[in-house]
Amino acid sequence: MSHIRAAFPAGGATWNNLSTELQARSDGDIDWRNGRAPLFVFGADDETYEVGRRAFFEFFSENALGRKRAFFGLGQMERDVLDYGLTLLNAPDGAEGAFTTGGSESLFLAMKAARDELRASSGFRPGDGQLNLVMPITGHPGMDKAADAMDLEIRRGDVDAERRGYAETLRPLIDERTIAIVGSAPCFPHGVMDRIDELSDLALETGRWLHVDSCVGGWLAPWFTRIGRPTPDFDFRFPGVRSISADLHKFGFCPKPASTLFYRDAEDLERATFKADAWPNGPFQTATIAGTRPGGAVAAAWAVLNHLGESGYRKAAERLSAMVDAYVDGLEQLGMHMIARPDFSIINYTSDEVDIFEVSEVMAASGWLPGLTRNPKGMHAMLSLLHESAREPFLTDLAAAMDQVRSSGTGKSRLDAVY
Ligand SMILES: *Cc1c(COP(=O)(O)O)cnc(C)c1O
Repeated sequence: MSHIRAAFPAGGATWNNLSTELQARSDGDIDWRNGRAPLFVFGADDETYEVGRRAFFEFFSENALGRKRAFFGLGQMERDVLDYGLTLLNAPDGAEGAFTTGGSESLFLAMKAARDELRASSGFRPGDGQLNLVMPITGHPGMDKAADAMDLEIRRGDVDAERRGYAETLRPLIDERTIAIVGSAPCFPHGVMDRIDELSDLALETGRWLHVDSCVGGWLAPWFTRIGRPTPDFDFRFPGVRSISADLHKFGFCPKPASTLFYRDAEDLERATFKADAWPNGPFQTATIAGTRPGGAVAAAWAVLNHLGESGYRKAAERLSAMVDAYVDGLEQLGMHMIARPDFSIINYTSDEVDIFEVSEVMAASGWLPGLTRNPKGMHAMLSLLHESAREPFLTDLAAAMDQVRSSGTGKSRLDAVY
């Protein structure tokens, strides 16, 4: 498809015109505010949204790169956010963290730290041949991206009947060139926690780094446990866990871009910190890939965490878990079956009776963005509280879509799963 290149703007557009145009440009977007996007966006409630938005724009121009030399307030807020996370995830004394721009960056940094640690401890040098990492098939493609950039091989193990990554299939993949074992809490495809208990033992037994990718659940899943909903533990209480990634901009309900990466040992943060000193301006060092980082994201995360706090996250966990149960009930009443029993708020389900991709195609025609898994074939959604009011219309439309496919399905959907 050829693309007609936009001309460079002449300039002079007024805010009134721009604002109208900005609105118009999103006219065809998915109606995410009413729960029609099964991924990409997250919400708790209107007040939290407003707190995050306002705090973000209070620090719109400040740069978190300058938090130590110019923007001391941001530095303190970042310190607080990291401390809150360390406490939440039961990190031992001496643990440390970094505030990043997203889950992918957190995963990348964890793998870089693990690689550098293996290089330091085993003497592998760059050019000595490929190192590897070991994870279940359900690991996030952010790992593939990190592996690609750092020339690592990924070895993937199968999951168990509950679709949890576990030790038995990963153990044979580990060798002296393995920089890390990676487990998810929960994994994106099926919404279940890998067996972090087993992976922790495996990490200790083999002397490997264990990274827990809790990008989705890290800031909220601990509250599921605290309100008494049985949710597998995944944090630093397992002694083999060396690092954990947890996104603020998912179920921390904070504005994008914001994630955190925690290390059991401050030495690991030190090792992962990039330092350069060869240019005219003196030493430069960052613990992140990004140099300039939005001050707004730090201020907003601090504000949202203080607004929600213990009581707010508990309440969100209560509302969300009740909502997930109601979705599961509703889906099962329609004859869907769950591909996995959700540990958190990601649901993945299918039908034995009608082609699920065809059902999704009918749903897409009525404005529901399809979330799909390929293997096994299923529908998929990462539900936040934006999806509360969408439940009834969703289930009503889904019932109708199933009827339509039952009566006039062709068995030939043009859809394919895509993130
Ligand atoms: C979202 C996600 C990531 C990546 O996070 P980004 O913020 O999109 O870079 C990593 N792991 C899991 C399990 C995720 O769901």
